[in-house]
Amino acid sequence: MAATPFDLAGRVAVVTGANTGIGQGIALALAAAGADIAAVGRTPAEETIEKVRALGRRAAIVSADLSTIGPVNRVVEEAVDKLGGLDILVNNAGIIRRNDSLDFTEEDWDAVVDTNLKSVFFLCQAAGRHMVAEGRGKIINIASMLTFQGGIRVPSYTASKSGIGGLTKLLANEWAAKGVNVNAIAPGYIATNNTAALQADETRNRQIMERIPAGRWGSPADMGGAAVFLASSASDYIQGHILAVDGGWLAR
Ligand code: NDP
Repeated sequence: MAATPFDLAGRVAVVTGANTGIGQGIALALAAAGADIAAVGRTPAEETIEKVRALGRRAAIVSADLSTIGPVNRVVEEAVDKLGGLDILVNNAGIIRRNDSLDFTEEDWDAVVDTNLKSVFFLCQAAGRHMVAEGRGKIINIASMLTFQGGIRVPSYTASKSGIGGLTKLLANEWAAKGVNVNAIAPGYIATNNTAALQADETRNRQIMERIPAGRWGSPADMGGAAVFLASSASDYIQGHILAVDGGWLAR
């Protein structure tokens, strides 16, 4: 039987923040499509790795705190060493800090921008060097609705996610002719630990659900299909695109 264009057999994917939430959903979807997975993060992604291996794929844990760019070159080297290559990078790890802009602190600015934007760029650079040399690769950055909208009380998060949108386009411009695709996924409201407080707040939860045309929160698994598409040869001619996976939020 002919392989589908979504077949990722023999590809190695590095996924940051793969121990939980969206990162775990994407890692499992890529593994189900055939990819081997290097799960990068602070908390060892034991459960993810176990599930990836249960799918018959190879898996490795790469420990790294991405609040600084110190580990980024080692992350790529370790993934290549452990799994024999690097074909796909998913920059998913991210944090959020909430406060009024009038009171927002430098610490909350730096923590978010360093993790969500600076480390993402330098991980792209480290992976990009490898991918450009190989003449192929797929980079998927996890953006947000706040790549397109302002939000409220999350200035460093909005700046970081807008920055990811710009960087995704810039890197696509630079590397498209070298065989490397750089795209982003912008999740809508996805039920994870990150959004647990919003889900638990009855009023906010109702307001959010009413505003989502699909009428429900997204799940980490909902992000998986978009990631498989952008990691596969089916998306070879797609560059610098920010794919909203939001149940219609932006269409409203
Ligand atoms: P979670 O809080 O559930 O997961 C975040 C992941 O990032 C965890 O694996 C966490 O690891 C990792 N991480 C955080 N800081 C660091 C660090 N310094 N070094 C290494 N890893 C780190 O969040 P989600 O799954 O909800 O979010 C994943 C991504 O999706 C984020 O970039 C987020 O901004 C984005 N997103 C989420 C939306 C949502 O509605 N959930 C909407 C739009 C975008 P650890 O457990 O070790 O801290």
